[in-house]
Amino acid sequence: MLNIVIFGAPGSGKGTQSERIVEKYGINHISTGDVLRAEIKNGTELGKTAKGYIDQGQLIPDSLMIDILAGVLDSFKDSKGVIFDGFPRTIAQAGALKQMLAERGQEVSVMLDLDVPEDELMTRLIKRGQETGRTDDNEETIKKRLVVYHSQTAPLIDWYKSEGKYQHIQGVGTMEGIFADIVAAIEKL
Ligand code: ATP
Ligand code: MG
Repeated sequence: MLNIVIFGAPGSGKGTQSERIVEKYGINHISTGDVLRAEIKNGTELGKTAKGYIDQGQLIPDSLMIDILAGVLDSFKDSKGVIFDGFPRTIAQAGALKQMLAERGQEVSVMLDLDVPEDELMTRLIKRGQETGRTDDNEETIKKRLVVYHSQTAPLIDWYKSEGKYQHIQGVGTMEGIFADIVAAIEKL
């Protein structure tokens, strides 16, 4: 089982690199952002709740997010492993993930921290907002998301270090170069 947490600030390239990892290793992909955006698109109750938080640059409450994740995890059959993209985003979520995997006789194999400087994140996200119309990719909301990242999500770096799972990845460079570093980190597990 290859259970990868792909981690990083908004715009760090988690989704892009996850697609490549899925292609190479044949594992399942959970992007919590994609799950929530699909709910919004389908106009579900969950989507309506999620949109309120997302457009404010805030996180969806832990209990709700953990239930959603457990549901997606249970839908995978004969899985070779999972890449967790956008989850965990809080210490509570990290603890819940650890427990969920332990209940299935599994654990996180590695946490890959895509490290990208703030000015580069801002440039990427503003460009993505212009290209895709993602409503949370505007300057005001991006700034809020970065504050939330630093206060609620970045503490996971030390948490995974203490678990012995942390792997730093330089998140600036070509997509191929970054992917090569990720593969090297996975291959040495
Ligand atoms: P990236 O660009 O690296 O893919 P991102 O931060 O731009 O990352 P998503 O992961 O798509 O975007 O998340 C979008 C929004 O969905 C978040 O700002 C947050 O409101 C909500 N969200 C996603 N995952 C979680 C989570 N694990 N806990 C709480 N809220 C979440
Ligand atoms: Mg994403």
